[in-house]
Amino acid sequence: MNETDKNWLTDHFSQHVLFDEPMWRHTTFRIGGPVDAMITARTEQEIRDLVVWAHTKGHPIMIFGAGSNLLVLDGGVRGIVLKLADEFEAIHFMPRVNGTGAVITAGAGVLVRQLGKYALDRGLAGLNFTLGIPGTVGGALRMNAGAWGECVADSIISIRVINRYGDIADISRDQLKFSYRRLDLEKDTIILNGRIKLKRADREALRQEAIRMQKRRRLNQPLSLPSAGSVFRNPPGQKAAGELIDQAGLKGLRVGEAEVSTKHANFIVNNGQAKASDVIDLIRQIQKTVFERFGVNLEPEVTIVGQEAHS
Ligand SMILES: Cc1cc2nc3c(=O)[nH]c(=O)nc-3n(C[C@H](O)[C@H](O)[C@H](O)COP(=O)(O)OP(=O)(O)OC[C@H]3O[C@@H](n4cnc5c(N)ncnc54)[C@H](O)[C@@H]3O)c2cc1C
Repeated sequence: MNETDKNWLTDHFSQHVLFDEPMWRHTTFRIGGPVDAMITARTEQEIRDLVVWAHTKGHPIMIFGAGSNLLVLDGGVRGIVLKLADEFEAIHFMPRVNGTGAVITAGAGVLVRQLGKYALDRGLAGLNFTLGIPGTVGGALRMNAGAWGECVADSIISIRVINRYGDIADISRDQLKFSYRRLDLEKDTIILNGRIKLKRADREALRQEAIRMQKRRRLNQPLSLPSAGSVFRNPPGQKAAGELIDQAGLKGLRVGEAEVSTKHANFIVNNGQAKASDVIDLIRQIQKTVFERFGVNLEPEVTIVGQEAHS
């Protein structure tokens, strides 16, 4: 990115642009090299101006939320990394006329667990599973985040998106292709918000369910160490990825300061200064061993972005 481009970004985003910002500061893994420019956009107009400019200049834009499903490589990210704030952190609530539930519009920058708590406090069912997920609404939609048989796709009515030309559209549920931990979107599509429909339920029963779910997470997941959640997708028709890794005897396997969690084999934890290259090395070793033992190809669930460091 040349000085003229940096000046354009500074003129438009002042303190909301950071150059050469280390991505480890913005991921739950605490791993990742520097990005050329990190921008925090606060309005749709700001995003529109940015995407149109970046497209004409040929700068790629990577949108991210809470960085809780990301492994950013040690060489960092070229181009622009975009984060959403302000307008995109709002929740709008609309009770349904017959009192059976509500429609909620949540900005893509809202934390899903905050949205889950918001619904729980109002006695609305369907989002308790989000309570331990550290992502944003945008990231949860893109990943079709889920747990214990429930997922984001279950309650969605529509999403609002912007493409690389600055066109904004609302896409209804029947036009959205959700699958296991995935929403298919055209390349470079940025989700701006999501509308969801929730049913009213017994508040105390919901509260008890939420407590049970959170307890289960605390028991099974290594929540005190940095990670990106489950590293591999569960292979269809097979045992869960974590079970296969555990049965292959890989719990506790280390490369540098990256380690296969001893608590949950599908988590890789960062014991301090782990590099992305350590995690990649571990991922490859796990894939090789699980394939040799069980003939199963484990595919990463974690989104790997950026470029390797030059040695
Ligand atoms: C401790 C822990 C527990 C977890 N538990 C679960 C779980 O139970 N279930 C589960 O499904 N996941 C879980 N995760 C993984 C992660 O939290 C989810 O995938 C989450 O939905 C990612 O959201 P994010 O905002 O952090 O997205 P990011 O990690 O920032 O981004 C993930 C992907 O989404 C894209 N994206 C982000 N925002 C937008 C947007 N506005 N528009 C378009 N694309 C966007 C990014 O480009 C990237 O490709 C866990 C992670 C951790 C660390």
